[in-house]
Amino acid sequence: MRNIVLLFILVLGAWSCTPKVEKPLMDSQVAAPSIPEIPVKKAKNIILLIGDGMGLTQITAGMYMNGNKLNLEKFPYVGLHKSYSGDNLVTDSAAGATAFASGLKTYNGAIGVDMDTVAHRTILEEAEEKGLATGLVATSTIVHATPASFIAHVAKRKMYEEIAADFLKTDVDIFIGGGKKYFTNREDGRNLYEELEKKNYQVSDFFTEELQDVKIDETKNFGYLTSEKDPLPVAQGRNYLQYAAKTSTNFLDKRAGDKGFFLMVEGSQIDWGGHANNSDYIVTEMIEFDKVIGDALDFAKQDGETLVIVTADHETGGYAINMGSKMDSLVTSFTTDYHTAVMIPVFAYGPGAEAFSGIYENTAIYGKMRKAFGFQGE
Ligand code: MG
Ligand code: ZN
Repeated sequence: MRNIVLLFILVLGAWSCTPKVEKPLMDSQVAAPSIPEIPVKKAKNIILLIGDGMGLTQITAGMYMNGNKLNLEKFPYVGLHKSYSGDNLVTDSAAGATAFASGLKTYNGAIGVDMDTVAHRTILEEAEEKGLATGLVATSTIVHATPASFIAHVAKRKMYEEIAADFLKTDVDIFIGGGKKYFTNREDGRNLYEELEKKNYQVSDFFTEELQDVKIDETKNFGYLTSEKDPLPVAQGRNYLQYAAKTSTNFLDKRAGDKGFFLMVEGSQIDWGGHANNSDYIVTEMIEFDKVIGDALDFAKQDGETLVIVTADHETGGYAINMGSKMDSLVTSFTTDYHTAVMIPVFAYGPGAEAFSGIYENTAIYGKMRKAFGFQGE
């Protein structure tokens, strides 16, 4: 009997012990979970591609009108940004680009300044300070709102001569875009070509030689003006963007040394097609811009240390693709000849690209780029 009781106690003990082992341990007793820390991958180079006015419909129209394919489809990370500005739910390109360049929500029309018109350093200027090579390419004038917001600080976007003069204050390594008149035919009489040349720039323009024919001196900075005022649309024969972007990438890569580079390329006229409520204009500009995107991806894949980001400042036109549309033949409409407040896609590839998935403010793109570069502090 005693043995039976003992056996019973032993069995009971064993039984009661078993669940103890299976019971989940207290957190403090659990060995450190084996979730690996995501290493912060630093980007040596950043290529920021801005399709002005390029909302989802612009992208969709470009894709369907291009045999149902775009290079944009190759990006592994896609996010959305909230494009509104500091004083309007519907942003303009100046406030939109200032959000990317300096991380500020500012008023429409502001170029590189905050709500109180105080200048804030841009990511391009910071990259310059840290010894990186930098560049700007656009299919608008180079003093237009989007490129201007990376290099200039003025209260109003139409202050084109002041913006051009700000190119003398930053040692941007390469710039290519329209607007020669703001450099050489100025109301203040200054000749910015001469001033740039004194600062070790090689300067040329469309009136002197085709971009493709320029023998670029890689020991100097380089500026090239593609037109007197606004460059033409693609449909009227403008064809420099792809060559300019490729040339700038290779130029900056050589000048970057081990420091890296920052390059912003804008497909400026997708927006102008939206303002004109002209679907063909949007599509032709979109397809050209997508070729630049393909080249940037090819470079980044080869290079392995380049972060490529593609986004827009805002959508333009309230553009829609309607019933009756077919692949290669779209029935479209517009709600406005201005911009809209819809969220805007962001595509990223390369080191740090995963940070661009999700939904965030347009200003967050600035911080994500700085983080990818490893820039510290304010
Ligand atoms: Mg623009
Ligand atoms: Zn616009």
